[in-house]
Amino acid sequence: MQHPPINLTATSSSPSKERYMENGNIAAASPEEGQRRPAFGWAARDASGVLSPFTFSRRKNGENDVTIKILYCGICHSDLHSVKNGWQNSVYPIVPGHEIVGVVTEVGGKVGRFKLGDHAGVGCMVNSCRSCHECARHQENYCPGMIVTCNATDADGTVTYGGYSDSIVVEEHFAVKFPAGMPLDRSAPLLCAGITVYSPMKRFGLDVPGKHIGVVGLGGLGHVAVKFGKAFGAKVTVISTSPSKRQEAVERLGADAFLVSEDPDEMKAAWGTMDGIINTVSAAHDVTPWLFLLKTSGQMIMVGAPLKPLEIYAFPLLVGGKSIVGSIIGGMKETQEMIDFAAEHNVTADIELISMDYVNKAMERLAKNDVRYRFVLDIGNTLSAA
Ligand code: NAP
Ligand code: ZN
Ligand code: ZN
Repeated sequence: MQHPPINLTATSSSPSKERYMENGNIAAASPEEGQRRPAFGWAARDASGVLSPFTFSRRKNGENDVTIKILYCGICHSDLHSVKNGWQNSVYPIVPGHEIVGVVTEVGGKVGRFKLGDHAGVGCMVNSCRSCHECARHQENYCPGMIVTCNATDADGTVTYGGYSDSIVVEEHFAVKFPAGMPLDRSAPLLCAGITVYSPMKRFGLDVPGKHIGVVGLGGLGHVAVKFGKAFGAKVTVISTSPSKRQEAVERLGADAFLVSEDPDEMKAAWGTMDGIINTVSAAHDVTPWLFLLKTSGQMIMVGAPLKPLEIYAFPLLVGGKSIVGSIIGGMKETQEMIDFAAEHNVTADIELISMDYVNKAMERLAKNDVRYRFVLDIGNTLSAA
């Protein structure tokens, strides 16, 4: 069946094919090459997804920009989809990474929120039109002109390269400030995984005590969904394909209950109990068993992004007037609010801190659901151009 082009990482601004160069070096054709400076990272060159060292360039710091020396970058499952052309929109080379944190090393003359030495981060987007209805209400994430952090073309015609690299230059509007004392390695994943689950919990009123939230898939997004749900005072139940995650879900992450989705008795006992379900599953799957878990008028919120269509039976939606909705990251104002909330409530990710040269092994393990619960690259200590 035909479907419209899927455009999750690259919105209206997919990069042009011309950027590919055989030597893998600077490919972003800048209108003003003299305004650029060298940068270094790791890129995937083709749909094998294998990453290797890559030299490119970034713009010089403009008057509204901050430059961030990158210290840590999380590995999101979207990076895996992207380097393997899982959404059929990849244009190589791709430098992935949109859970970026580091230290501000340069600020433009018109920058007000940041100073040298501040801890700052960049999440999934680096630009938007700034004038549409969505931008006006601080929902740049729904702007038709949103420009994502990797595999897109920015307003100046250059390609966006992500955080598996030494530095990034971004308009201060798209940078997030990290309160002093917040652990940067464990906080990096909040910039995508965190805001992606925080935003719909707010939007659908799940952020209050007394609500019962289901979290399907205990991975990078799922485990921070448990933590935010508990920080909001809600009851949180994990629905998982991995019985081996039961103990730590409850004892370490603080979930109130854990259902193995293949266990019909456990699932049936929870029918009709949940106000909302955050579905983080990265692969195509049958969502029907989870619809039965919702109360009347409950929502299943899709944040997982499999390319293949989902299988949905109508009846469990009709009975109880339930709905399936979608959500993508969050706006910049809400992302800052989420980081401040996380700092106040000690919400951080459980991570495996890895060196840059482990990235290909980490991608393999992520594909096999073998990570507890987010890989974070130790860019500051292990990315070397030598
Ligand atoms: P992840 O760490 O790999 O976690 C996904 C979890 O889904 C796995 O840990 C596993 O949990 C479960 N799962 C995997 N395959 C499954 C299958 N075939 N059937 C049922 N469950 C399965 O991935 P992530 O980084 O959290 O990202 C999850 C998805 O969200 C990806 O598709 C990513 O692209 C997307 N995403 C969307 C947004 C957005 O803005 N909407 C933002 C970021 C990421 P169990 O072992 O517990 O079953
Ligand atoms: Zn992500
Ligand atoms: Zn806009």
